[in-house]
Amino acid sequence: MSTAATMNSARIRDLMPDDLPEVVLPRCEVRPILKGQKAIVTGASSGIGRAIAVGLCAAGADVVVNYIGDGAPAEEVVHEATHCGCASRGRAIAIRADVSDEKQVTDMFRRTIEEFGTVDILVNNAGMQQDAPLEQMTLAQWNRVISVNLTGQFLCAREAVKEFKRRGVRAGVSASAGKIICVSSVHEVIPWAGHVNYAASKGGVMLMMKSIAQEVAPWRIRVNSICPGAIRTPINRAAWETSDAYNDLMRLIPYKRIGETDDIARLATWLASDEADYITGASLFVDGGMTLYPGFEAGG
Ligand code: NAD
Repeated sequence: MSTAATMNSARIRDLMPDDLPEVVLPRCEVRPILKGQKAIVTGASSGIGRAIAVGLCAAGADVVVNYIGDGAPAEEVVHEATHCGCASRGRAIAIRADVSDEKQVTDMFRRTIEEFGTVDILVNNAGMQQDAPLEQMTLAQWNRVISVNLTGQFLCAREAVKEFKRRGVRAGVSASAGKIICVSSVHEVIPWAGHVNYAASKGGVMLMMKSIAQEVAPWRIRVNSICPGAIRTPINRAAWETSDAYNDLMRLIPYKRIGETDDIARLATWLASDEADYITGASLFVDGGMTLYPGFEAGG
């Protein structure tokens, strides 16, 4: 590196703020942009899925809060969604299903259609990590993460598309016959040592999403991904729980704050609405600049 470049990097570093205030996201005015629509949000009993389920419901959609395991947290989400104080909020119900199990997924769609009449929006959010260095990663760890994060999204998308095509566009409800939002990750493009199963699953989601989007666009079905950076949820607790871990994390985030679940829920609500009607096949990054090669932020 030249001396001039080194001096330039040093000057930029000197100008960087080191004491930034904690961010409290302002409450947005909720508009009923999903009135009359029916949604399934997978893995909605915690984290990002929880915030998306509450956000869609507040915007007027009837929402299925899909969960696996204990039903109590999912019922809490149903309660939160249906007591949000928004005049135009929809209904919410909890349905247990493992998204990696074909029969449980088809049963979840059948029950949703019985309860709500149809499905207009699928949010493929359920996901998990099972991390290990490559040579210690078991086949079971590889298979489980691919089954939930990638196969689970395929199984749900397939059922959603069947229903969207059967029903077609519902005039007066939405300009499109259906919307699928895949919750991917910055790791659909950023390699992640020690997490090859997770990164492979999200890389797979990227081309699965784009291929489905291309295939179903003529039916007026939109398919997109949201790619979160580091969002404060249980899945990555170790990365933000202590101040040392948080400061370390900030080296990867030019915007110098962790993401909150509402950062994702707001985009999901808008993307599911007709305001985003011409967007399909897109990976939308919500990452405070994590994909901007932060190692180069001081000039490299
Ligand atoms: P989370 O652990 O709170 O949420 C994951 C949810 O998926 C949990 O509710 C879990 O019970 C559910 N789930 C797991 N296996 C399931 C299965 N087989 N069937 C149904 N549900 C299942 O973590 P989160 O951060 O909210 O993760 C949500 C999504 O966001 C995941 O796809 C994750 O990969 C993605 N994501 C998160 C971050 C982040 O920083 N938090 C970053 C990028 C991507």
